[in-house]
Amino acid sequence: MKIAFIGLGNMGSGMALNLHKAGHEVTGFDLSEAAKKHHAEQGIRIAASAHEAAQGAEVIVTMLPASQHVEGLFIGTAEHPGVLEQLPAGTLIIDSSTIAADTARKVGAAAAAKGVDFIDAPVSGGTAGAAAGTLTFMVGGSDAALARAKPLLEKMGKNIFHAGDVGAGQTAKICNNMLLGIQMIGTSEALALGIANGLDPKVLSEIMRRSSGGNWTLEVYNPVPGVQEASAATRGYTGGFGTDLMLKDLGLALENAVTAKASTPLGALARSIYAAHSLSGRGGEDFSSVIKLLQKNN
Ligand code: NAD
Repeated sequence: MKIAFIGLGNMGSGMALNLHKAGHEVTGFDLSEAAKKHHAEQGIRIAASAHEAAQGAEVIVTMLPASQHVEGLFIGTAEHPGVLEQLPAGTLIIDSSTIAADTARKVGAAAAAKGVDFIDAPVSGGTAGAAAGTLTFMVGGSDAALARAKPLLEKMGKNIFHAGDVGAGQTAKICNNMLLGIQMIGTSEALALGIANGLDPKVLSEIMRRSSGGNWTLEVYNPVPGVQEASAATRGYTGGFGTDLMLKDLGLALENAVTAKASTPLGALARSIYAAHSLSGRGGEDFSSVIKLLQKNN
């Protein structure tokens, strides 16, 4: 299939490479020169613009930071119209970015008006899951659009859930990430307490991992450097899931909670904690670096 892949960052990189390895004709685009160079070296054709990448593509996959990027790319402005304008009816858009459900519905409606299929398909599984092709997809959209997307999603992930209509994938995703954000702070708090008492973080992590405190962050995303060889913490908090992206997701969860009149006290507190962490200059570091906020001399 002819696929345009827009957004070759931490997550998009592994996903695009998996589609490329599966034999699809992938044309990539990113604003970052480094990302373009890296993927050209991996054999992915790089277009000069998103519009050029989308030219002749049967499917467009996007993995962009936030709502404004996805809306800007597809809808754009009167002065700079988005790529939707140039797409023929029958094109399929798979947006895997984590964005507001309202934005997904807005782009989905604009796509539908042109006879273009749209699914929101945000993911979970981190950069390791993106590279290994083991992501979990949370899909919003019609049965028919999902059926078209499925063979491609299967090349990038191992679990595909249909959450409901367009936007439902995004709602599921922010519920999950609100839980993850809270879980990372809770895990960091417990580890910092143990370390302050002289415990070895590796031993404490293993005890909690196999006890009632066990959770995903202890399994694969330990916030203490050196506990897990492949963690973002061990890589100097680089290359994982940025603090500012977590802050964005908790903001989306909070906005959603306000609209739904839902009570999310820990989600609100977690957002404030990541905001303080970002303000301290660590917005670009992996979100697990939030442990530094809870430790002495950091
Ligand atoms: P990233 O910042 O590493 O990558 C985003 C890429 O998009 C960058 O390379 C940037 O240059 C590019 N970009 C921005 N605007 C663009 C535009 N208009 N045209 C082309 N390229 C553009 O972010 P990431 O970690 O890959 O995350 C991408 C999305 O996936 C976010 O919505 C994030 O919340 C979500 N997500 C991330 C993770 C993770 O572990 N990193 C996990 C699940 C979901």
